[in-house]
Amino acid sequence: MKKRVATCACGQLRVNCAGDPVIVSLCHCLDCQKRTGSVFGIAAFFASENVEQQGEFRIYRRGSNSGFAVNFHFCPHCGSTVCWEPERKPDAIGVAVGSFADPAFPSPSQSVYDERRHAWVPPSPHTNDLPQNPGILHGLSINRSEKEAIAIQFAGLSARDNPMQVQLVRRQLPAAHGRRARV
Ligand SMILES: [Zn+2]
Ligand SMILES: [Zn+2]
Repeated sequence: MKKRVATCACGQLRVNCAGDPVIVSLCHCLDCQKRTGSVFGIAAFFASENVEQQGEFRIYRRGSNSGFAVNFHFCPHCGSTVCWEPERKPDAIGVAVGSFADPAFPSPSQSVYDERRHAWVPPSPHTNDLPQNPGILHGLSINRSEKEAIAIQFAGLSARDNPMQVQLVRRQLPAAHGRRARV
């Protein structure tokens, strides 16, 4: 099984990851911009049993739009956030892709919060990307039909005042009509 190590800037906080990430997700949201100091964040989600953390850390806990808190583990010496535990998905650990310092790391397969994307950042090439994150996308073993179901659910949430939008999304995604998103 492939082994990768993510570390903070000073190197004392290490996160050992076995195997490949389940999903790599790029996020344009303002919380990720604040956390990273960059204009988007990229997370690699691993099954928690494949992740082992070594070194001193502190936790910064914040809420998220999904209603579940996220616990960010950061190095008390250099301040880098290396990994986090999404309470919505206790079986997953998010690891900051930049912490691997590996330009060959697998590229993101989705991006969320496109409405917060800086104008000069190229749009994502991925299909089914969402203008926001309904909080479900940071899940394990998500597949295309689940993404479609989520797109419908999201449209339903955002389009309470605009039922035409829901109809439009359903027409674009006929296979997923009537499916419920997994939570
Ligand atoms: Zn450090
Ligand atoms: Zn984000």
